[in-house]
Amino acid sequence: MSTNIQDKVILITGASSGIGEATARLLAREGAKVVLGARRTDRLEKIIAEIREAGGTAECRTLDVSNLDDMRGFAAFAESKFGPIDVIVNNAGVMPLSPLHELKIDEWNRMIDVNIRGVLHGIAAVLPAMRARKSGHIINISSIGGHQVWATCAVYSGTKFAVLAISEGLRLENTDVRVTVVSPGVVESELADTISDETARQSMKDFRKVALTPDAIGRAIAYAIEQPADVNINEIIVRPTAGAQ
Ligand code: NDP
Repeated sequence: MSTNIQDKVILITGASSGIGEATARLLAREGAKVVLGARRTDRLEKIIAEIREAGGTAECRTLDVSNLDDMRGFAAFAESKFGPIDVIVNNAGVMPLSPLHELKIDEWNRMIDVNIRGVLHGIAAVLPAMRARKSGHIINISSIGGHQVWATCAVYSGTKFAVLAISEGLRLENTDVRVTVVSPGVVESELADTISDETARQSMKDFRKVALTPDAIGRAIAYAIEQPADVNINEIIVRPTAGAQ
């Protein structure tokens, strides 16, 4: 079955696990040419081998989204393999939660570097060409933490509120480029593994008891992509039915 996803060149950051991995597999099944980026190249290589075995088209490249040159190199690599980029999913993120008074400043900076700068770098790497071609789609992953703040989530939520604000500004400034924000609720993934603060780690265990599987977010991303070019899905919030969060 041919959809509006078929043959699109789609870049996915943070594709070595969780939501990014599930999205890459799903979009490849729908016929997209997917390009996966993350730091753990061994994982990416295993995932693209499996996608290819299943008949899909995929490439991967080592990527640290906090480095602008790296991100530009990732986009150039994708173009050299498949031609102009149709979609980027700025998904890479980290969530080392802690109360502000613990002063885990390195972790604050890491969240700012990956969750905010990473998204901006993704935009910078693809926006000029998309504007020139008057076509393209930028999908940014925020969070329910981009709509609400909990204790220990101040900096993480700050980064995810920023993703919402940046996406809205991007949408307003670009009438030829589609811009979508996807805000997941709790999803099974490795995200909570980055929490070093013991109290935050314990409270997240309860918070994350009811969780979606990552492909639920992949389907929301696919829904936004498969709309006709004149339809922009602005934002999707996806939560587990059985969860309060
Ligand atoms: P995972 O931890 O499973 O995935 C995060 C991905 O980001 C990994 O592939 C990781 O790969 C990558 N990553 C981290 N740092 C960098 C970096 N500097 N450069 C490139 N890639 C990086 O978590 P999720 O799948 O859950 O997270 C995906 C997104 O979804 C994040 O933005 C997260 O904030 C958001 N989200 C998740 C929710 C959840 O409950 N799971 C809820 C709401 C939002 P590697 O380490 O190999 O670089």
